[in-house]
Amino acid sequence: TENFFDILAARFPADADAPFIELESGRSYSYRDLLDISGRYARLLAGLGVVKGDRVAVQVEKSAEAVFLYLACLRAGAAYLPLNTAYTRAEVGYFLGDAEPRVFVCAPATAAALAGTAASAGVGTMLTLGAGGDGSLADRAAGLDPDFDSVPCASDDLAAILYTSGTTGRSKGAMMSHRNLSSNAATLHEYWGFRPGDVLLHALPIFHTHGLFVATNCVLMNGGAMLFLAKFDADAVFRLLPRATVMMGVPTFYTRLLADARLTREAAAHMRLFVSGSAPLLADTHREFEARTGHAILERYGMTETGMITSNPLDGERIPGTVGFPLPGVSLRVADGETGGPVPDGEVGVLEVKGPNVFSGYWRMPEKTAQEFRPGGWFITGDVGRIDGRGYVHIIGRAKDLVITGGFNVYPKEVETVIDAIDGVVESAVIGVPHPDFGEAVAAVVRRPDAGAGGTVLDEAAVIRACKEQLANFKVPKLVVFVDELPRNAMGKVQKALLREAHKGAFG
Ligand code: ATP
Ligand code: MG
Repeated sequence: TENFFDILAARFPADADAPFIELESGRSYSYRDLLDISGRYARLLAGLGVVKGDRVAVQVEKSAEAVFLYLACLRAGAAYLPLNTAYTRAEVGYFLGDAEPRVFVCAPATAAALAGTAASAGVGTMLTLGAGGDGSLADRAAGLDPDFDSVPCASDDLAAILYTSGTTGRSKGAMMSHRNLSSNAATLHEYWGFRPGDVLLHALPIFHTHGLFVATNCVLMNGGAMLFLAKFDADAVFRLLPRATVMMGVPTFYTRLLADARLTREAAAHMRLFVSGSAPLLADTHREFEARTGHAILERYGMTETGMITSNPLDGERIPGTVGFPLPGVSLRVADGETGGPVPDGEVGVLEVKGPNVFSGYWRMPEKTAQEFRPGGWFITGDVGRIDGRGYVHIIGRAKDLVITGGFNVYPKEVETVIDAIDGVVESAVIGVPHPDFGEAVAAVVRRPDAGAGGTVLDEAAVIRACKEQLANFKVPKLVVFVDELPRNAMGKVQKALLREAHKGAFG
């Protein structure tokens, strides 16, 4: 059987008392707990009529038991379908209606409010799971036999449906097979040099590919331990860094750590590796972090639909502003966005990817799926990038964020790089807004340092002047808006769609 759980279980430590998860409270779960609890949950699911291919939708707070539920789904042959805890009842209703899960597990506190929604979506059984492992899932599983033989699965069988972050539109359900998960987990485990004794500091959400598949699956492949934080919290991170060897985070984790005086060489001395992904890590953040700690953050790039695609090297040079090389077994090419044909070496185009990590399609969206694949199985990522002379991949941005003004293409990142370098700018987001003459006009949303920093305050004219010195006229913003904060979603991604919506009327 190619059930991913069996592949993982073969690598679990011989000593079942070895730790798997340790919570902030100090409570810890061993590999024996993992096997027993996931075995009971799997038995419960099977008893509820869950068979191969059935979906189990889950909207719960982060907990060890939620990880065991994920593993139980693999064991039972079900497709694990985690939902962002921030989703409202209406959103959950959409996802349940779309996925038609046999079982829906939610937090005890939301069960009453969601019962009607679940019933109208045809959910067979509703269970609850609280942040402390409490609820009807645990109650009903309690007396069951923990021994459970995994349901045999083929490598193509569905293991999970993960919804994309919804940065560019409505989230899509990516169908991930057992092989998609196992191939990426094995590759990352090896590429990032996981070894006995590694301890991962886990502060990411587990409804997303980063926290669930990248971080957790690497730990499981290693048969190792993780320190599990309910969410990112700088105090907890500084308390635990001396016991951890690896941390994975989104760029905002690193900017928050940098803003804290406790981030020093000594604080990070026990660490082996810091990994960043899900959104672009500013080259400045990379450099400052290295100057402060001696650690070059390893940036990698991936998507819900593909797992991880590229990574900076463990041993070679980790170049700020790049996402490194295509991972072993993963093929990446740069294509002309219009024709799909190749672009000359080093030129910018849309990244396309192929490999055992690439999903089989969007759940119940055959047309969308067909649109996003080229003949030969190449998946169109929708990200614009290029590969430099040394083979490092650079992400320029998303094809959907490209601004076309007066017939000229403007890549927001090029303008953002110029603006970010201006004294007094924290960060920026460049978008296209409708314009009567140009079709779209370049607009810049700029974050200034918090008031009270002293000195002169940056104004629109200064931003435009700086841009004019370095950029062709058509790339220079026709509108500059100052904000205290850029809108970001749970994964720290700037939500440009919200910015476009907010400023769509700027030119009448
Ligand atoms: P949606 O597809 O619903 O619009 P999303 O693309 O943000 O949302 P995810 O699958 O979570 O959903 O994110 C994948 C995207 O994140 C990539 O396509 C890429 O644009 C971005 N990304 C991931 N890692 C990096 C990175 N290191 N640098 C720049 N962008 C990154
Ligand atoms: Mg996407």
